[in-house]
Amino acid sequence: MITLADLPLRADLIGAEPYGAPQLVVPVVLNVNENPYPPSEVVRREMADAVVDAAAGLNRYPDREALELRRDLASYLGHGLGPDNIWVANGSNEIMSHLLTAFGGPGRRVLAFTPTYSMYPEYARNTCTQYVTVSRHPDFTLDADLICDAIDEQQPTVVLITTPNNPTGTTTSLEVIDEVCRRSDVIVVVDEAYQEFARTPSALELLQKHPRLVVSRTMSKAFALAGGRVGYLAAHPAVVDACRIVRLPYHLSAQTQAVARVALRHSDELLGRVDELAGTARDFEAWLRTRGYAVVDSEANFTLFGRFADRHDVWQQLLDRGILIRETGPEGFLRASAGTPAEMAALRDALDDITPTMQTDTTTQGETA
Ligand SMILES: *Cc1c(COP(=O)(O)O)cnc(C)c1O
Repeated sequence: MITLADLPLRADLIGAEPYGAPQLVVPVVLNVNENPYPPSEVVRREMADAVVDAAAGLNRYPDREALELRRDLASYLGHGLGPDNIWVANGSNEIMSHLLTAFGGPGRRVLAFTPTYSMYPEYARNTCTQYVTVSRHPDFTLDADLICDAIDEQQPTVVLITTPNNPTGTTTSLEVIDEVCRRSDVIVVVDEAYQEFARTPSALELLQKHPRLVVSRTMSKAFALAGGRVGYLAAHPAVVDACRIVRLPYHLSAQTQAVARVALRHSDELLGRVDELAGTARDFEAWLRTRGYAVVDSEANFTLFGRFADRHDVWQQLLDRGILIRETGPEGFLRASAGTPAEMAALRDALDDITPTMQTDTTTQGETA
């Protein structure tokens, strides 16, 4: 029998494992920062009708420029953006792949600030871009000097600034991003996957000033459309042109485009729980603090907390009680997404039930965050 070891796999992929959060069927799923509220019956029907309409033309290729969807996304974002400022793909993971294919590649570097999103190294590897990282401050924030010094040192062509950052929920101010764009000529990608939950303003405000600034967004989180696979970016039209070169032909299916347009028409409903979910996360953080946990200041729909003496054991004990959260971030921490009130009650009760053993060393990163 043939195995992977017998195949001419690319040398840099040998030994690699397919990566991703466990997809387990349990009553309480709080591990991948999804919106816990599904679309309403009305929106579902409209999506179904839109797919039926799209199916009438499925013998033809879809609009490979996805122009109508890009127009809708531009008007959703506002800030004077038009369709030529928008690129859209199958999740922001494909957006990142397009950006790194266009602006990274062999001999080039992409720089990120850890701890951060665990998928970035995969996008870098797949596009043969060298992934280099610099640590955030001990409280997980960034400032312009830290970023610019890292750029000077690492000489990347692309810098990833994630705000709110995953898994910490930490935001980076517009002033910092503005200064980085003024002081460097690299492609600055601001990953705003959780921006709708945040109080800190969006980097969209800076796009007119900085042609090398890219703001990446997704419909997977606040928009409650993770299953639809729609991510997008806003940038100078020249950046969009670069992505158009490297995208696979007809990358975004007619059904995806149709469903995303329905979702955007119903943005009021789909985004209707965003403030509530951010509030749920903040309430959970306040509760954790009363119980003596270390909690990272977050503006996203999730919370990073610890520091557990054995985080895997706590993760497993929660799972044994039907609750799936995420084992990620700095050692000793776990991340939980904001769920429904019932889901959060289950999580709080389970934590009280487990009464985990905490780390005793109070001097290490995260304890004071
Ligand atoms: C969830 C997430 C995304 C979204 O990925 P999609 O491919 O759009 O589902 C992007 N960036 C970060 C930091 C995330 O946490």
